[in-house]
Parts: sequence; structure tokens; C-alpha cells
Amino acid sequence: MQNFSYHTHTNSFGCYDGHNTIEEMINAARTKGFCELGISNHLIYHPNIYNGCEQAKNDKMYHADFNKAQDIFKRTIDKIKEVADKEKFKVYAGFEVDFFPSLKWRDSFEKIITEVKPDYLIGSTHFIRTSDETKMCNIYYIKSLEAADDEKEEMLKNYWRNIIEAIKSRYFDFMAHLDVCKLFNLCCEDKWNYWKEKVIETLDEYKQPFELNTSGWRKIGEQHPHTWMLKELGKRNVPIVISDDAHRTEQIGENFEKAEVLLKDLNYKTRWKLGK
Ligand SMILES: [Zn+2]
Ligand SMILES: [Zn+2]
Repeated sequence: MQNFSYHTHTNSFGCYDGHNTIEEMINAARTKGFCELGISNHLIYHPNIYNGCEQAKNDKMYHADFNKAQDIFKRTIDKIKEVADKEKFKVYAGFEVDFFPSLKWRDSFEKIITEVKPDYLIGSTHFIRTSDETKMCNIYYIKSLEAADDEKEEMLKNYWRNIIEAIKSRYFDFMAHLDVCKLFNLCCEDKWNYWKEKVIETLDEYKQPFELNTSGWRKIGEQHPHTWMLKELGKRNVPIVISDDAHRTEQIGENFEKAEVLLKDLNYKTRWKLGK
């Protein structure tokens, strides 16, 4: 069974959404029999991150100020490395990054990464946005989005375009929860299969690793991504890694047995690991 996870969150500096400290997460991984652990708090930076959603203004994970963002991200990585040294356990210090395709965002992001030096990066899309990135809303706050129906439809299409552009950017070691939008019953109708197929094609073309995220089983009774997507990606030998997306110690390695059974049933052959 896979005995590591690279998608986990902590409560560092009181500004992330994990519930445990770095030490607690490392010790839980050790107790679980893991050989290594990746810690990937959210990297959410965009000058317009608050535009489009009232609720976002109170979210401590969001950063619109470049210097403040760079500073906190640097302290986050440095702290993980410091604790890992003390705990004598193999820990990778990374980020789960909310990607945006504009050149302006990419330029800032590249500056941050050069300065902060994380060990790895997970590519994520939690936001729907307008094409010019002037208005955006985390799907977790979808109820507070103020947009007309046709604008919302366009923003949902951009959810998929965003994933495709993130793959093409080649910034990321692996892609997170491709269909996380289904948590909020978004893009569940058959018409969205067009976009899901486009994501599959792009992952294949770029041989971009992605995750089987087990946290969906806890939330809605289904993993990310859909089983039919996994089947298609398996046929194409796109590398896969199992993630728990643990926000608490007890979620580390959660449902990994079930994920292994699913991958075996699908005869999924190509697995991925950091440093391979
Ligand atoms: Zn996520
Ligand atoms: Zn996550």
C-alpha cells in the first residue's frame, strides 16, 4: 500500500485551514507507518482575490499584497524544514497552489517560488473567475457569488480552462482533485463531460501526474476524480499518486486501502512518487 502522502495541511501561523501543528502531522505519519510526508499548505495569492466574494475578506489564507504573501509563504516553508530537521523524519515542504493563467499572476508566482524555494508544488483550482481575472470566487463560497447566470456559466467553464492551463504551465509536480467542484454539485451534468475529457487529453499529452484524492469519500461518498476519468487516465498511463488531503492527524492515510482496491480493479499501472 502507498505509505506516504504529499497533500496535507497544517495550522501554521494561524492562517491556514489545517487543525494540527507540523509536529503533530509528522508524528501521525510516523505512527501510521509512512516512510515520508509532504506538507502542502495553500498558496493563494492574486491582486483581485477579494473581488467577487464578500466572504473572502475574512479568509486569512488569501493574499492580495505581493510582499506580505511572499513573506508568509517563505516563513511557512522555512518553519516546516526547521521542524522536520528536529523530528528526524523525511518531510517535503511544498504548497497546494491556486493557479491563475494571466502573465501578471505567473510573473508574481515565479518570483515567489524563486525566493521561497519549496520542495514541490501541487496545482489546484478552487476558484471560478472571469476570463480577465478581475472577478473570482472560491467554489467553497459559491453561495455568496454575485453573478448573472450566463456569467456564472462562463466562470464555471473557466474552472476547467484553468486546470488545463495549469497542466500546460508545467509548474506542478502533480494536479489536485480534478473535479473538486462536484462537492458543491457544480459541473455534474453530462454536458460538462466535454471539459472533463479535455482535461484527460491534456494530462495525457503532458504526462502530468495527478492525484486520486480520498477526501471525497468522507465528504460526498466518492473520490476525486470520477471513476470513469480514472479508467481513461489509467488506459493512457498517466502517472497517479494517492492523496488524503489531510487537514487533521486522523485523516492521514484515510481510505488508502480503498484507493488501492479501486486502482487494482481498474488495473491502473503507472504510479508516481516524488524524487523518482
Ligand atoms: Zn484543495
Ligand atoms: Zn488540500
